[in-house]
Amino acid sequence: MSGSIYEGKSKIVCKGKDESTLIIRYKDSATAFNGEKKAELPGKAQLNASISNIIFSYLAQHGIETHLIEVIDETTVLVKKAEIVMVEVIVRNIAAGSFSKKYGIPEGTALKNIVVEFCIKSDELGDPMINESQITAIGLAQPQELAEMIQQSRKINDLLCALFVKAGIKLIDFKLEFGRSGGQIILCDEISPDSCRLWDMETDKKLDKDRFRRDLGNVLDAYREVLRRLQNV
Ligand code: 5GP
Repeated sequence: MSGSIYEGKSKIVCKGKDESTLIIRYKDSATAFNGEKKAELPGKAQLNASISNIIFSYLAQHGIETHLIEVIDETTVLVKKAEIVMVEVIVRNIAAGSFSKKYGIPEGTALKNIVVEFCIKSDELGDPMINESQITAIGLAQPQELAEMIQQSRKINDLLCALFVKAGIKLIDFKLEFGRSGGQIILCDEISPDSCRLWDMETDKKLDKDRFRRDLGNVLDAYREVLRRLQNV
């Protein structure tokens, strides 16, 4: 893509229409375990872009400020330029993944309260977990910014749970990224089966990237199912 200014594991970022915007194109590449496991999944870009665009539009309609300005085509969006906060926010409703492993809690166990965790966004360091006082101590975010990110993450969780319930899907956990733009904290990156754990409400079938991480097969069939259900909500 011409004018590319950054190529990440799952997206290409290019100059936007002016200084305050960027163009992001989703890629078909799938990676896991900090890039150790890699594959090309033709069609993933379109599925993740479509799912994320539906979700970002829904969140915007419900008062969440996001980077999304305009859908350009099936795999490309125009977004507000933002300075990405180098902290990933993880919200958990049900135990799974690294939480289950670290604390010995079986996957699928209901949590007595919502868990909000933070990781440093760093491939080099392997996205290590970090707490609130550590984040502000090393200047990754100002206390007010972090408070805003937490408040927005909780609101996003409420909104997403309500959306996915209508689609017959349990929102187990998800990862968010935020950026600074125009003096505000706004939601950036994507929300898709790559960044969420999504289980079928009736059968607990995994409809997310764990199908790729754990070699469960039919990865894109599951992503297609998520898109189909969200389109019918
Ligand atoms: P865990 O900490 O259990 O591995 O992940 C918790 C949730 O955050 C899962 O839904 C997972 O997909 C998401 N997540 C955590 N780290 C990353 C990351 O670096 N990239 C993406 N796309 N999702 C992540």
